[in-house]
Amino acid sequence: MSSSKPSSAAPLTRVVSFEEARHLVEQHAARVQLRDVETVELLASPGRVLAEAIVADRDFPPFARATRDGYAVRAADLAQVPARLEVLGEVKAGDWPEPDKCSVGRGQAVGIMTGAPLPSGADAVVMVEYTAATGGIVEIQRGVKSGENFVPRGAEARAGQLLLDRGRRLDHAGIAIAASVGKGHVQVFRRPRVAVLSTGDEVVEVDATPGPAQIRNSNSYSLAAQVQDAGGEAVRLAIAPDERGRLRELIEEGLGCDLLLLTGGVSMGKYDLVEQVLGELKAEFYFTGAEIQPGRPVVFGSCSKKYFFGLPGNPVSTMVTFELFARPMIEALAGMTPQSLIFLRAQLKSEIRTKTGLKRFLPAVLSGEFENAEVELARWQGSGDIAALARANCYVVIPPDRERIEAGEWVPLLMR
Ligand code: AMP
Ligand code: MG
Repeated sequence: MSSSKPSSAAPLTRVVSFEEARHLVEQHAARVQLRDVETVELLASPGRVLAEAIVADRDFPPFARATRDGYAVRAADLAQVPARLEVLGEVKAGDWPEPDKCSVGRGQAVGIMTGAPLPSGADAVVMVEYTAATGGIVEIQRGVKSGENFVPRGAEARAGQLLLDRGRRLDHAGIAIAASVGKGHVQVFRRPRVAVLSTGDEVVEVDATPGPAQIRNSNSYSLAAQVQDAGGEAVRLAIAPDERGRLRELIEEGLGCDLLLLTGGVSMGKYDLVEQVLGELKAEFYFTGAEIQPGRPVVFGSCSKKYFFGLPGNPVSTMVTFELFARPMIEALAGMTPQSLIFLRAQLKSEIRTKTGLKRFLPAVLSGEFENAEVELARWQGSGDIAALARANCYVVIPPDRERIEAGEWVPLLMR
């Protein structure tokens, strides 16, 4: 049995609404210092955050680019159709139609392929489907408007124009842009190191054989995965027992990282010591609870110039509070431009009855296909039920004033 005693260092209680809690985190996240920079190969950059702006090295497209296979023409020549035009030659992708050798005059056309430069004189491309060529003449069945079926030079971006700003997290689309301007390497921010500290006398490491009243430390692993997904590097610390001295040592170790995430020990129990120990370390608390379920006891503050979150130990609470509050802070520490949290919507499959007072994020299964998104709560045994969460693929978000939501209503969702 532990001999811990209550302490006077416990912080004042400050329980705020979900929105206020989220905004408090966002306000603090907006203040974090930008990180060190490193250069990585483009292929190693997905998920990394740009530390440099990427600008167009030339006009995009660099030439008026045909978007169809067919004939480059003067639209005015097709005012009356069918029309017969003299074929001067052909431009395929990669060819450069020198204006003195290949220029479309009145009554003339040039065969052209998708991706090829539009020859001078032409102002449209007519699709090959509407043409029939024989012996140097093409007969065209349909008219085109001037400007049709090609993209003018520089229409997508002008040389020197900003394409991706620093703070942008790279994905396949961003990488396509970097590649298109010739960047085989990009400058990215160093990933923030995020300490993950699980607490609890009952918690043992995954490779240990748990005693009859012990459980394995799943939170450190789920959190490490979430940290990585948010753009951070997880540093898993040893498990802290519900004992002040050792807990304090490990918290101090965790404060050596860029951010500290604790799980467990933030509820009202006699051995929930996290806030007390942080209080002894002169932490400042921005909130000590949010009106949400799961995850009401979540804590956010700073200590020794580092931010920390005390996430409730119940595994589903840990995962949900990470998504709602820790993720935007990690993204900011990773150098990302802040993103607001947006819920999607789906149609509820079966009625929900709940209690008012808390904003709820309940594990749910999104199904259906294409435009038909349906959602239904996962059956669960409460915030300790990891198996239910693994079956779920989203959370249904229920506002605090709703007691009953009928089947067929469009409800907000948080994907996971
Ligand atoms: P606490 O927030 O410390 O009151 O813990 C709430 C519940 O979460 C208890 O049932 C704990 O056993 C469980 N729990 C706490 N930490 C972990 C962890 N690291 N991994 C899995 N379950 C945990
Ligand atoms: Mg505990």
